[in-house]
Amino acid sequence: MSSNNIDLHTHTTQSDGSASPAELIARASSKRARAIAVTDHDTVAALDEARHAAERFGLEFISGIEISAEYSPGTMHILGYCLDERSVALNEQLGELREAREKRNPEIAKRLQTLGLDISYDEVSTAAGNEVVGRPHFARLMVERGYATSIQDAFDRFLKKGAAAYIEKARLSPRASVNLIRDAGGVAVLAHPYQLRLSSYEAVDELVAELAGFGLDGIEAIYSRHSPDERVAYAEIAARHGLLVTGGSDYHGSYKPDIDLVTGLGDLEVPYALLEEVKSRAASRR
Ligand code: AMP
Ligand code: ZN
Ligand code: FE
Ligand code: FE
Repeated sequence: MSSNNIDLHTHTTQSDGSASPAELIARASSKRARAIAVTDHDTVAALDEARHAAERFGLEFISGIEISAEYSPGTMHILGYCLDERSVALNEQLGELREAREKRNPEIAKRLQTLGLDISYDEVSTAAGNEVVGRPHFARLMVERGYATSIQDAFDRFLKKGAAAYIEKARLSPRASVNLIRDAGGVAVLAHPYQLRLSSYEAVDELVAELAGFGLDGIEAIYSRHSPDERVAYAEIAARHGLLVTGGSDYHGSYKPDIDLVTGLGDLEVPYALLEEVKSRAASRR
């Protein structure tokens, strides 16, 4: 029997997660999820395999994507749900975002070498084994070589925004990110708003007003690393702007070892009812 809980934010081996699409679905099933979305960075490559696995396990599957938008000093990610993954425009744009990674990634390796670390991009890319190589793949190799004590330590000392080996990559603007998802028939959701690193909820409210003007549909208020107070505050901001609330773990397997699928840090609960709102919004556009 499944529970009434879902997870709308997950990564597979097609981006920077450690579970294959089929393994992810098997885990979701063992955690009694009722529905699951796969939201890899810049690729829809996992969706077919995950959807078929979900059918076998009798679990509802939602197509998804996560796009990193141009923003500072924090991070802005936009999630897309229920989109047409065969959309030509979507796939062209995702291809360009993956190319932007391929421009950035060798620069990260070069910077690490300048800092005295024996890390080549060939090795990182081979270890990642897919088209979307991300910073967590660098972090993993750095841990294996003894340059960092954990993936988090590699980010804190080398890879996070502003750290010594941080290199910018070309991104879409927030408006273009929302449009990309909406034009592919999807529902656009502001991911993990705490990562915006804004100093007040008023500032988040103002930004959300602007994004809502671009067609943003929802806010991921329920998120592993949001405190109970943050979950409530972000849900209130969503309500003020007529936006949906969504939730997810941001499961990356061994790349974020403290976060589990469906249950996050242990206290995550994303009710199925939120997904019904997402689906009806997507359907209302068809
Ligand atoms: P990339 O898309 O290659 O720039 O890498 C972004 C991914 O790296 C995010 O989705 C997270 O999985 C991870 N990440 C980014 N910043 C941090 C951080 N400060 N600590 C740990 N992981 C991070
Ligand atoms: Zn990631
Ligand atoms: Fe993200
Ligand atoms: Fe994510």
